[in-house]
Amino acid sequence: MLEIARRLDDAGYEAWCVGGALRDALLGGAQADFDLATSATPEMVQRLFPRRTVAVGLRFGTVGVLDGRRVLHEVTTFRKDVETDGRHAVVAYGVALEDDLARRDFTINALAYHPLRAEWRDPFDGAADLARGLVRAVGEPATRFREDYLRILRALRFAARFGFTIEPATWDAARTLAPGLERLSAERVRDEWFKGLRTAQSVAAFVGLWQASGAAARWVPELRSETEVRGFAGLGAVPPGAPRDPVLLTVLLTIDPVRVLRRLRASNDEVQRAAAVVAAPAEPTVGGATSDAAVRRWLAAAGPAADDLAALDVLRRGAPAPWMPAVAAIRARGEPLSRRELAVTGSDLQAIGVPRGPALGRLLDELLEVVLEHPELNTREALLARAREAAGPR
Ligand code: ATP
Ligand code: MG
Repeated sequence: MLEIARRLDDAGYEAWCVGGALRDALLGGAQADFDLATSATPEMVQRLFPRRTVAVGLRFGTVGVLDGRRVLHEVTTFRKDVETDGRHAVVAYGVALEDDLARRDFTINALAYHPLRAEWRDPFDGAADLARGLVRAVGEPATRFREDYLRILRALRFAARFGFTIEPATWDAARTLAPGLERLSAERVRDEWFKGLRTAQSVAAFVGLWQASGAAARWVPELRSETEVRGFAGLGAVPPGAPRDPVLLTVLLTIDPVRVLRRLRASNDEVQRAAAVVAAPAEPTVGGATSDAAVRRWLAAAGPAADDLAALDVLRRGAPAPWMPAVAAIRARGEPLSRRELAVTGSDLQAIGVPRGPALGRLLDELLEVVLEHPELNTREALLARAREAAGPR
């Protein structure tokens, strides 16, 4: 990064470290990946680093530059917004660092550091807000949110991620303008929702912010209350920094996750995953007791959703469900849990005279029932005998 800054500087351009990495470094997080802001145009940057650039965000003035270790650094030309409609911005180049910092969303994101001169620029007192733990809009909050409503969601995310408070005027504007969140694309909202769930220190606090701001009412009205979420004993136990699964969390936190994920245009796989969890029987308990056979039947019915259900249980109760040892034992013994794992196939059954069609499917299901109850009967001979019996003389 230093070498990139030096080459820009030698060519007569300014080069400053900016953005989230600087903020994170000041908060004490180790940070290697600083982005640079420069007075050089994207074309100049491409010319200064021949065969080392990637056009990562050329439309926004960003050129990726590879350093000596082939790590990509974003180098973005100083710019200011000349036109905004709450969703997109038209940017102009040929402006000073101060203009570039003024277009950033929050004071804690609007710092700059000159890596060669060891100089700071902090026109909005972002360092002080970092020390106090405040998320404060740069400039007049309502104006800034109207320019880009996504900033409201970003405020919630940064507050939850760092355990910060949203400064009162910024918070008031966020709540007042929350109805404008309607204009955002579902994809941008989903990215914020997922990122927020991944990075929040407390998922419950993040939920509380979405509720209190009015963001939930616009985009996730199915979201549970913060109080309800605080009742999930396993949520608080997730160590900070441990990977979190935003799809699974959406299932836990909302009363109709399929609807939520569809609205947020999550991928088909993600929607299907949630649908499978919702459709599966929640637990194998029959009349308060759990037998191995009941656990096998539950595993068969849940199919690929079984692991998600188990993970949800841990999040809800703070401990694995009491039948998890039985699940582990059944899996260790390799007991059959699906038609695929039966010792006979559809063609075996056809060979003994069962006609193709629905009857064949029903017979396979019956055999699976037998095997779920008595795994030791999963042999070719035993199942063919059963099949002959069931198909019977006609
Ligand atoms: P993260 O750790 O989530 O990447 P970040 O602060 O780096 O946090 P980015 O989305 O990577 O966030 O954006 C980099 C910088 O660009 C921000 O620090 C901020 O200065 C500016 N920025 C990003 N999005 C906006 C926006 N919607 N409005 C104004 N400034 C923005
Ligand atoms: Mg970033």
